[in-house]
Amino acid sequence: MVHSEMAGRGHEQVTHFVDEDTGLRAIVAIHDTTLGPALGGTRMMSYETEASALYDVLRLSEAMTYKAAATGLNLGGGKAVIVGDPEKKTSAMMRTYGRMIDRLGGHYITSVDVNTSVDDMDIVKTETDYVVGVSDGLGDPSPVTARGVFGGLRACAETVYGTDDFSNRTVLVQGVGKVGRRLTQHLREQGATVKVSDANANVAEAVADEFDAEVVAPDAVYSEPCDIFAPCAIGGVINDETVPQLTCDIVAGGANNILGERRHAQALRKRGILYAPDYVINAGGLITVAMERLGEPMDEAMARAEQIYPRMLEMIELAKNEDVTVLEAADRYAWRRVEAAREPLAA
Ligand code: NAD
Repeated sequence: MVHSEMAGRGHEQVTHFVDEDTGLRAIVAIHDTTLGPALGGTRMMSYETEASALYDVLRLSEAMTYKAAATGLNLGGGKAVIVGDPEKKTSAMMRTYGRMIDRLGGHYITSVDVNTSVDDMDIVKTETDYVVGVSDGLGDPSPVTARGVFGGLRACAETVYGTDDFSNRTVLVQGVGKVGRRLTQHLREQGATVKVSDANANVAEAVADEFDAEVVAPDAVYSEPCDIFAPCAIGGVINDETVPQLTCDIVAGGANNILGERRHAQALRKRGILYAPDYVINAGGLITVAMERLGEPMDEAMARAEQIYPRMLEMIELAKNEDVTVLEAADRYAWRRVEAAREPLAA
């Protein structure tokens, strides 16, 4: 089953690690290393079945290939999952995990993801150099991510409204944690009217107070009038149930896997809503850890995140020319970079 799943998505390597002493059960998926070593975070979750953990890591690692390629980074796509209750994570488990990552010889470089932290990566670092997102690195990538997402919103606004002047725009930000809060700040600085929503009412209120925004209840966001809907919380929010409710012209946000399924990009297009592929505009986090690995400063990460704005415009243009969704155009754009790197050098 693993081989057919791998072949179907084009994975190069999937490695399973088990350590009975620490309870570690991990899967590392390396999707494609044509452009460079596979870089992607380690997620820890209590998956219901091994098959669901495998599905998640295959899907996530494939997306990293596209994210790195579309961002112009010389990195491949990889991701890891630790199967288990995050509450039961121990230092011994993370050390063992570090030793296992080391055995992959640098084909995979790990970092933080859902339910793993900088502290965890510091422990991993005691056993391997193939880790980024550590405490003596560049630190929290969220400001860089938010800057890139804002650039993505600008490109979409310019396309739809003919101007990136936000003073007449209303943007609804779903999830005002590290990325959403900073995005709210950029938008308010540019004069946008901002509505914020968060599963945590206190967080929503605090951000609304700080930036003079309006709070929207979490279950009311999809039908709430706005020009731009910016999901910055969880994945899967654009689905069969929510697409018909939307009143916006643009969906563009920082969350990973915004679409329930790929076909929802087409569903948005049919409704005349421009969708910015999440992996294109939320690449600031990957840019930050990639710069950390190269020993570059935070300024360089920020400068590269500024390139998301022109890149997004380019992808929108490609989509128009090829008469496809921007997601399809972005996938083609990313894959062209991988294929070009695969071509043999002329004799
Ligand atoms: P965070 O945990 O700081 O913030 C997420 C916020 O969303 C929290 O305030 C939470 O209460 C809220 N939330 C959760 N479920 C919600 C729901 N159903 N409705 C409304 N609000 C909800 O996380 P973050 O670092 O800001 O990341 C946000 C998203 O962006 C995630 O999908 C993450 O994977 C993605 N992302 C983050 C980065 C980064 O640099 N932090 C980079 C790339 C992608």
